[in-house]
Amino acid sequence: MLPFQLVYHPGYDLNLGDHVFPARKYRLIRERLLAERFAEPADFVEPEAVSDDAVLRVHEPGWVHRLRTGTLSEAEVIKLELPYSREMVQGFWLAAGGTILAARNALRDRIGFNIGGGFHHAFPGHGEGFCAIHDIAIAIRALQHERLIERALVVDCDVHHGNGTAAIFAGDRSVLTLSLHQFSNYPREKPPSVIDIDLPDGVEDSEYLDRLNGALKVAMSFAPDLLVYVAGADPYCEDQLGGLALTMDGLKRRDQLVFETALVPPVPVAAVLAGGYARDTNDTVTIHCNTAKAAAATLVQESRQP
Ligand SMILES: [Zn+2]
Repeated sequence: MLPFQLVYHPGYDLNLGDHVFPARKYRLIRERLLAERFAEPADFVEPEAVSDDAVLRVHEPGWVHRLRTGTLSEAEVIKLELPYSREMVQGFWLAAGGTILAARNALRDRIGFNIGGGFHHAFPGHGEGFCAIHDIAIAIRALQHERLIERALVVDCDVHHGNGTAAIFAGDRSVLTLSLHQFSNYPREKPPSVIDIDLPDGVEDSEYLDRLNGALKVAMSFAPDLLVYVAGADPYCEDQLGGLALTMDGLKRRDQLVFETALVPPVPVAAVLAGGYARDTNDTVTIHCNTAKAAAATLVQESRQP
C-alpha cells in the first residue's frame, strides 16, 4: 500500500472527443500506475462530486446555474474552449470533489494526490482555457470554512500563468499564490499573483529549478497550513501548448523539490495535475505518474530519517 491515497473517478474524463486536451489521461495514469505495480486497486479512492454550496463559495450563482442547466452563451463556450456536455460539467464537479478530498487527505497523510483537477484558469463568473470551475480555490475555501486550515500556499508550476487563482485570491492575505510560467504564452492578461516568476521562452532544467527553488524559499516563509501543488506537465520540451524546454528528468527534479521543501517544516501537500499536451500523450502520462512517484519517494525518505 502507498503511504497516501490516489483520488480518482472514472467520471474525470470530460468526454471531449478529439481535442488537444487529453482528458483520457486520467484513466491512463491510473492504468499505468497499476500496470507498473506502483499502486494497487486499494490505493485509489473515489471522490463525491462537490456540492453546489461549496462551488458557490468561489463562483457567481449565474455561472454555476448556466453550467448546470446547459444555458451558456455561445461566447462563453468559445472562451471555455470545451464542447458543452452534461458529462463535462459532472467531470468538473467530480474533480473539485477530488481536490477537496486530496486536501483533507494531505492533512491526515502529509500528502494528498488528485489524479485530476488543477483548473487554474477558471474565474468566479466565467470559465476559460479548458477550466470551468476552480477546484483549487473551492478546496481551499472548503477547508477554511471548516476551520481545518487558515493559510494556504498555491505553487503553480503549470507552464501557463494561474490567472484564475490570482484573480480569486487577490487581496486575500490568507492565501499566497505563486505562479512560475512562460511569460509569452496564454493567458495574455495575467492578473498579479503574490509571486509571479515570468520565464522567457525556452528555459531549460537548471534555470527553471533555480528560479523555483528561490521562489519556494520565499513562499514557505508564509508558513502555510496547506500547500496545493499544481503539477502541470506542460513545461515539458515536447508540449504542444508550451514553450519551455524542460526534460522528463528536470520535471522529476521539480516535483522532488516541491515535495521535499514542503515536508521539512512540515507542510501538508495536496497535488493536482493541471495541463499536459505532449505530442505523445504517453509522455504526459509518464510525467504525471512521476509526480506521484516523487511524492511517495519523499515520504519513504522521510520515514527513514532518525
Ligand atoms: Zn497549462
